Amino acid sequence: MTEKIVVIGGVAAGPKAACHLKRLQPGWDITVVDQDNLISYGGCGIPYYVSGDVSDESELRSTSFHMVRDVPFFERAKGLKVLTSTRALAIDRQNKTVQVEDLESGKKIGLPYDQLMLATGAKPFVLPIAGVELDGVFTIANLHKAVEIKKRIAQGKVDKAVVIGGGAIGVEMAEALADLWGVKTTLVEFMPQLLPHLVDWQFAAMLKTHLQEKNVAVFTGEGATAILGDANGKVTAVQTPERTLEADLVIMAAGIRPRNELAKEAGLAVAPWGGIVVNQRLQTSDPDIYAAGDCIATTNLVTGRETHAPMGSLANRQGRIVGDNMAGINSLFKGVVGSFIMKAFDRCIAATGITYEAACAEGFDADYALTAPADRAHFFPGEAVAVFQLVFDRRTRQVLGMQGFGVMNDSISARIDAAAVMITQGATIEDFRDAEMAYAPPFSAAIDSINAAAFVADNLCADRLRKLDMDRFLAWMEDFSLEPDWVALDIRHPQEAGPFVEKFGQEKWVAVPYAEVRDRHGEVPGDKTIIILCDAGTRSYEVQIFLDHVGKKNTMVLSGGFNVVRRIGVDWYPE
Ligand SMILES: Cc1cc2nc3c(=O)[nH]c(=O)nc-3n(C[C@H](O)[C@H](O)[C@H](O)COP(=O)(O)OP(=O)(O)OC[C@H]3O[C@@H](n4cnc5c(N)ncnc54)[C@H](O)[C@@H]3O)c2cc1C
Repeated sequence: MTEKIVVIGGVAAGPKAACHLKRLQPGWDITVVDQDNLISYGGCGIPYYVSGDVSDESELRSTSFHMVRDVPFFERAKGLKVLTSTRALAIDRQNKTVQVEDLESGKKIGLPYDQLMLATGAKPFVLPIAGVELDGVFTIANLHKAVEIKKRIAQGKVDKAVVIGGGAIGVEMAEALADLWGVKTTLVEFMPQLLPHLVDWQFAAMLKTHLQEKNVAVFTGEGATAILGDANGKVTAVQTPERTLEADLVIMAAGIRPRNELAKEAGLAVAPWGGIVVNQRLQTSDPDIYAAGDCIATTNLVTGRETHAPMGSLANRQGRIVGDNMAGINSLFKGVVGSFIMKAFDRCIAATGITYEAACAEGFDADYALTAPADRAHFFPGEAVAVFQLVFDRRTRQVLGMQGFGVMNDSISARIDAAAVMITQGATIEDFRDAEMAYAPPFSAAIDSINAAAFVADNLCADRLRKLDMDRFLAWMEDFSLEPDWVALDIRHPQEAGPFVEKFGQEKWVAVPYAEVRDRHGEVPGDKTIIILCDAGTRSYEVQIFLDHVGKKNTMVLSGGFNVVRRIGVDWYPE
């Protein structure tokens, strides 16, 4: 018997489920409904369309073989029925019918289903402040908004823009405006750091510094309190508690909320924060109704807690799982580790698992190894620093997360992806230490960054390495009186250490090059706390072991070293 399938939502999860199911059950009658007239687009490509990297919006709706994924494409090539500009109004679970309305004609009909899928996505959160309705204020709700934003910029109507929200979408949009179009762009984030909850503060700080280097003004810990306009209803500025930022374009990227109205009204289980509740087969509380993508609640595999993971990658994977299960193939979506990656101008930032801050809040015996090695063999042309942080539990040695920041190449993504796979499987520090990564000088170092981070974690757990956290070091540098009894032991080249000795004085800054420490360790004061400093932390560790050996055990190694300090950016750095 032919099954009737209705899919509500035609962007990522919906079309993926429908097309996969049609391949599994070619005789089934599958209808996709979307209230929009543009469907199956790569929403993730919106910032690159706005920036101009992608010249035409149809490229975001095209297959890799250059066919536009429109209604005729889905009907002819895929054998689906597709109703665009058609809104699903209600689900009648008793009679297994979805009531839909053609938004152009106003006509309402009932679509019968045997199995139904909700792929209704998420809607942008609109801040409860004055001025959100002004002309020139946008959320990135769909492709139409992106087209309108780009049109205004291309017509020369935008000189100054403010992006509200320093999450991934806000940062990507800030780059899109500032980079190719040269729009004077300001980013404001209510939380104390960019990418809140996604990365720890050091990584957010490195990102902020890079954005500022690229002429994006960034204000963190500062929320928008109002959006101001002129007599014609056109936006003119964004107000924060600290300042008034002039703007003729405002992008509100203040988070998203699952679109759950249909599910709620149909009496399906919905989490208090809004995600539609599903089991691992992605069935809602009604087994004939599935849900996937940005509208669902899923499980964080590290914490075991319910979470919202609105990612295009997951929406597509979940779509396939829905297709499988509808066709009778038992297929499970077990949860997420929260992997993310993004480009910001010339840098790449990525993370998987949970942050150190989250690990502490979750009650883990949390610690982290911050490393800053070369991203490929140090002798290979183009080598650059890649900063990584491995977050782990000292008691169980389980790896809880990994973050990376480096130049825009594949070195960060390769490591974060490998870490994501291992963390999903509950890997320990030993698993990271033993991971067999492919090596050749153009791609990586002989000791891969994944292995190197695990070595540092292992040393920390065994108390072979005693570190000073970056936040404490920076605080001490800002105010020497916070911890008066310390001295820096700078083991870098004299040319690098010299300006610091000159600036801070020999009392505070002792310079002994790495290769000379064994001969000159007598110059290292024995009655003070010694902070050993180098570029990445590796040489400092070796020196710490040697000083321990000669009885000077009052030392700490600066985690991440000057490679991280420089990227964070500090005003005390000698010119
Ligand atoms: C600017 C931007 C950049 C992004 N970058 C990335 C990235 O780099 N990596 C990544 O993994 N993810 C990224 N994402 C997220 C990704 O786009 C989403 O996770 C993905 O689109 C979710 O797909 P979905 O099918 O669940 O929902 P959506 O894409 O939200 O689609 C849902 C569709 O359902 C329709 N709909 C809702 N209710 C009804 C109804 N009652 N009747 C009919 N139709 C309805 C909506 O109109 C919409 O067309 C980005 C998103 C944005 C906005």
